[in-house]
Amino acid sequence: MKIGFIGAGKMAQALARGLINSGRITADNIIASSPKRDEFLLDQCKQMGLNTTHENAEVVQKSDVIFLAVKPVHVSKVASEIAPALSKEHLVVSIALGITIRNIESLLPTKSRVVRVMPNTPSVVRAGASAFAMGSACRDGDAETVERLLSTVGFAVEVPEIHIDPVTGLSGSGPSYMFAVIEGLADGGVKVGLPRDLALKLAAYTLLGAAKMVLETGVHPAQLKDDVQSPAGSSVYGMHKLESGGLKGILMDAVEAATNRSRATG
Ligand code: NAD
Repeated sequence: MKIGFIGAGKMAQALARGLINSGRITADNIIASSPKRDEFLLDQCKQMGLNTTHENAEVVQKSDVIFLAVKPVHVSKVASEIAPALSKEHLVVSIALGITIRNIESLLPTKSRVVRVMPNTPSVVRAGASAFAMGSACRDGDAETVERLLSTVGFAVEVPEIHIDPVTGLSGSGPSYMFAVIEGLADGGVKVGLPRDLALKLAAYTLLGAAKMVLETGVHPAQLKDDVQSPAGSSVYGMHKLESGGLKGILMDAVEAATNRSRATG
């Protein structure tokens, strides 16, 4: 299978690296494009062994699956450039925030096979969480193809398109919430006397470990939390502070606010 990236920025490079590292696709079967003004991004792609071009149509001619990995504002221009080169044999996978399947389909030849993905930045370290929705002309097997490709950079799941905005509010925007949590925990550690570097590492590993426990044990997080809290122990004292500040309500508000924002801009 040949893979093309229109756009050679952070997300395209993260996906390309994941595909290569997984051993599923070799670098010489991947091509990426970018305008001349962003030559440095193509240089980075070349260092990974990818083929590169300034011509978006060339990406289509040389690929079976084409990722639209440009900023949303560039999608319509790119779509008009690639439309003449597209056939029903191509699968177009858009990762552009807020651009609906119907919108992309309307810019491409009829019956184009379109998939919309909401990835997140931890894809860069192969710990991403992506959800994808299938367009009306997709064929049997397309969802499996997309799942196989996206899972090289983390967890990937198919959802109805109506869920893409909530996914944006949760896992799409979630890394930024969790960076703030890590920063806050580290600040707390510094306040009680830990060196900054150590506090930051402990905070980050704590989130990583808690997430792995939820995923690997399958035990409900409320149960895991109860297991940590011994009577009159320090954890329950800390938890009382968090609940007094409305931790869970604030997180729910954040997901809802980001979802609504995504709906309003989509
Ligand atoms: P980026 O700015 O790093 O990369 C964008 C790329 O598009 C660059 O290589 C740029 O040269 C290229 N480009 C611009 N105009 C072009 C054109 N006319 N033809 C071809 N290439 C062109 O952006 P990114 O962070 O990789 O994001 C890419 C897409 O992924 C965006 O639509 C964004 O909404 C989406 N996304 C990003 C994240 C994230 O966390 N970074 C998460 C979810 C979705």
